[in-house]
Amino acid sequence: CGIVGYIGPREAYPILIKGLQRLEYRGYDSAGVMLYDGGQIHLSKTKGKVEDLKKRAEQEIPTAGNLGLGHTRWATHGVPNDVNAHPQVSNSGDLVIIHNGIIENYGAIKKALQDRGYTFQSDTDTEVLVNLIEEVKKSEGVKLGKAVQIALNQVYGAYAIAVFDRNKPNEIVVAKLGSPLAIGLGEDEFFVASDASPFIEYTNNAIYLDDGEVAIIRPGKEIKLRKVEGDTVV
Ligand code: GLU
Repeated sequence: CGIVGYIGPREAYPILIKGLQRLEYRGYDSAGVMLYDGGQIHLSKTKGKVEDLKKRAEQEIPTAGNLGLGHTRWATHGVPNDVNAHPQVSNSGDLVIIHNGIIENYGAIKKALQDRGYTFQSDTDTEVLVNLIEEVKKSEGVKLGKAVQIALNQVYGAYAIAVFDRNKPNEIVVAKLGSPLAIGLGEDEFFVASDASPFIEYTNNAIYLDDGEVAIIRPGKEIKLRKVEGDTVV
């Protein structure tokens, strides 16, 4: 399983595909990408290999865009199939997430969200998390970074996540606990990945998130680092 993300001036798609191929050694059963072209979110995902995803994506979606997320899934909740593959999208269609790991208490959260009218397309714990973030964002009236922080305080398990919000298309929010997450810092661009191999040719400036950290990543700005627990800006 692996995650890759890009935000900056380059075309994201080739970086994602190459990056996912470099993360194949981690093992997986499905793969997917999300491209944001400045207006719309385009998703393509499939059970199978990154090579299968590449063929499918190039037929199915416009692969242009300077912001993207890519994922290889090792199924823990829900069988390996196209719908359960990541990225997963929130009910509004605005939030997109990729996730490696497990949300242990997803069942109770899913029930609470269903009681509030949320519906689910997949069997994944990940779709529950992205909708929890959406619910927090709406009910607390906070921005994405804060919503991720609050939502993660309500879950236990292990995760490396990257989240994109169509309403704030100049940033990606990432967080980790247990699973690895590296951020590559370029000039006005950032890469995120499970390890540095997807971005090693673009920058040798990398930071590795610590457990319990959330990072808000915006090109042209300093990375904002926060602890999942509390407001501490470190
Ligand atoms: N628990 C998530 C799922 O089953 C993520 C699995 C992974 O680490 O790839 O969809």
